Amino acid sequence: MTSVYLDNNATTRTDPAVVAAMLPYFTEQFGNASSMHAFGAEVGTALAKARKQLQALIGAEFDHEIVYTSGGTESDNAAILSALETQTGRDEIITSAVEHPAILTLVAHLEKSRGIKVHVIGVDARGHLDMEAYRKALGPKTAIVSIMWANNETGTIFPVEQLAELAHEAGALFHTDAVQAVGKIAINLAESEIDMLSLSGHKLHGPKGIGALYVRKGTRFRPIIRGGHQERGRRGGTENAPGIIGLGAAAELAMQHMEDENTRVAALRDRLEKGLLQRIGNSFVTGDPDNRLPNTANIAFEYIEGEAILLLMNRDGIAASSGSACTSGSLEPSHVLRAMNVPYTAAHGAIRFSFSRENGDADVDHVLDAMPPIIERLREMSPFWRERDVRTEAFNPTYA
Ligand SMILES: *Cc1c(COP(=O)(O)O)cnc(C)c1O
Repeated sequence: MTSVYLDNNATTRTDPAVVAAMLPYFTEQFGNASSMHAFGAEVGTALAKARKQLQALIGAEFDHEIVYTSGGTESDNAAILSALETQTGRDEIITSAVEHPAILTLVAHLEKSRGIKVHVIGVDARGHLDMEAYRKALGPKTAIVSIMWANNETGTIFPVEQLAELAHEAGALFHTDAVQAVGKIAINLAESEIDMLSLSGHKLHGPKGIGALYVRKGTRFRPIIRGGHQERGRRGGTENAPGIIGLGAAAELAMQHMEDENTRVAALRDRLEKGLLQRIGNSFVTGDPDNRLPNTANIAFEYIEGEAILLLMNRDGIAASSGSACTSGSLEPSHVLRAMNVPYTAAHGAIRFSFSRENGDADVDHVLDAMPPIIERLREMSPFWRERDVRTEAFNPTYA
């Protein structure tokens, strides 16, 4: 059966070239980089090269600005927890309503357990930050601002360089969760004021379980994992050599494919989106079609449930995702779409299609054939569809 993978914002396939680059470091090259012998030295050399490869992808000025972690979640946690320790006299956090749970769960915990004041800034219908609320929240108590570079559900891109400048005017640190942006759009940290940035290997065709936190030179940092002197004392534990080397290879490949991602892959995404909207009524794009990642399309199909859509898509060999937190059992629609005020009848039926360089035209053709009957079938069974008020349904000006 045809199988179409369009869930690359959840995870990507590790590129075979990345696996090949990693393999020796599971076998012959098993040394500990810290050891005082040839086994260790060879691994150390490979780690240094991998660091340079990642440095180039994000445009960091110095390779030691990279601290390797276990992934995006750890990087996010490390950035915020560090800022609360280093920013003496400041105990407030500013973030957005559409962050990944790696940020939102942490700040909710800090609020509850430590009484940290958290300003959660809202977004508009296209997912853009409420700048007025952001400026107002900034102040002498702000320890750190954490705003994502690009949203994982809609692809909406935030003006993080500008947000960082505003944070600095208030004396606050600026962190960005760039897990979805790194490898998809050009990033040049040397030219920005961003203090810390999180990234993750498995979102850019690298391995799972490896990520990094960029910490700008001169930024005070307190580790959450203390141990040996690895990562200049900023993250203890023997280096994940295969992971770091795989991430380096993935970074280099991402640079080579960046143009393809922003031209061919974006065109595939656009063709799918346009085709679906033409073929299926009562559907619309969420997010900002004019300012988003090249690989992401989030389309709401009104009056049906995303989980049901995904099940039927899966039967047709198509993998995508919905934003609903079905794990909670409550079938709440995505917090991102709710923050954007997407009507409930639509937010429930939102599907995220996320492409990668591995997708091609045949994938789009298959999805365009498969989706209309799926949506039609589910709507036939939906009481909400039958009872919808056809006189008012097109009246939401933003989402019509
Ligand atoms: C996937 C993702 C994370 C988590 O990264 P892990 O490496 O899986 O821990 C954090 N933030 C965003 C925006 C993500 O998409």
